[in-house]
Amino acid sequence: MSRVVVAGGAGFVGSHLCDALLARGDQVVCVDDLSTGRRENLTAPSAEGQLELVVADVSREVPVEGPIDAVCHLASPASPPAYLRHPLETLAAGSEGTRRLLELAAAHRARFLLASTSEIYGDPVVHPQQESYRGNVDPTGPRSVYDEAKRFAESLTMAWRRTRAADTAIARIFNTYGPRLSAGDGRVVSNFVVQAMTGEPLTVYGDGSQTRSLCYVDDQVRGLLALLDSDEAGPVNIGNPDERTVLELAGTVRKLTGSQSPIVFEPLPTDDPTRRCPDITLARRALGWKPEVGLEDGLRRTIDHFAALLGAGAGAEDGGECGG
Ligand code: NAD
Ligand code: UDP
Repeated sequence: MSRVVVAGGAGFVGSHLCDALLARGDQVVCVDDLSTGRRENLTAPSAEGQLELVVADVSREVPVEGPIDAVCHLASPASPPAYLRHPLETLAAGSEGTRRLLELAAAHRARFLLASTSEIYGDPVVHPQQESYRGNVDPTGPRSVYDEAKRFAESLTMAWRRTRAADTAIARIFNTYGPRLSAGDGRVVSNFVVQAMTGEPLTVYGDGSQTRSLCYVDDQVRGLLALLDSDEAGPVNIGNPDERTVLELAGTVRKLTGSQSPIVFEPLPTDDPTRRCPDITLARRALGWKPEVGLEDGLRRTIDHFAALLGAGAGAEDGGECGG
């Protein structure tokens, strides 16, 4: 049994990571400022007595006492509207937050895992993206507060590894979706599903030809745990290479919800990446990991979650099999 600190554990991915750690018998200390996360995400039956919530902003303090075997840093705004609303906090979470959590891990000789992002690659000119690709990020554009915070966090993590023998790992997470996405946080899957289920128009930004490769959250968490449990330093891409256009995704959500909602086109946000697809050769080889949940299957599970949340029937329709 281990005692694991999960910074950002009350959020979407973090709470699923807490669940998975608890399910295998670990103790979890969740450190979260509840800025985009929710206490309700931490109510798994296995949390009883095994999970402690410390409400704190990791860019200011990490008040955790007692033994620590691992520290996972997921604390950051992650949805574009959230980090564009909180640019300075986002930069602080990636910089000061990462430094404090690295310090905590090193003081306990604990393994440190950074939740980095495919945004490291910016608007990529190499496709699919391998870890060796250095990216194409505008360092002063609006999205840079997130992209550059994560790039700095990766740099800081590697510097601690090189100069202070810290035991570190970097996961580059590609777009992940599933139950507990916040209905209002503005990301594409939650937007489309909620819009389809409430009869609102599905808002496709630009012409919808931009692509994303969506990973179901259970697969993502299995990948993060495999990395945490390994000796691999990374960075390692964790994502599902099943690449779709945003317009195609809107059509799939309409079909799976049986929704009559129209699709409307709205302006493309500044610097919105045109394509995104992970090369997961390293994750397969070093971690023995690959995604297993296909898009339609994962979307159905997500739709069921929002149906329960919205207190309405999902009207799901069979969308057939899909590749992963
Ligand atoms: P989320 O917004 O649901 O979760 C982030 C959590 O961090 C929230 O609980 C929030 O309250 C907390 N938090 C934010 N700033 C904090 C601070 N300064 N101190 C303490 N807590 C703080 O987002 P998510 O999708 O679960 O993302 C989790 C992590 O994974 C983030 O670091 C994000 O950058 C990374 N990531 C996610 C995706 C994705 O598609 N979900 C993709 C790439 C990377
Ligand atoms: N998007 C969209 N409609 C929405 C929300 C997002 O067309 O209501 C697009 C967005 O422009 C981007 C993609 O969907 O091209 C993924 O957006 P998201 O915010 O989920 O994640 P990102 O990959 O941009 O961080």
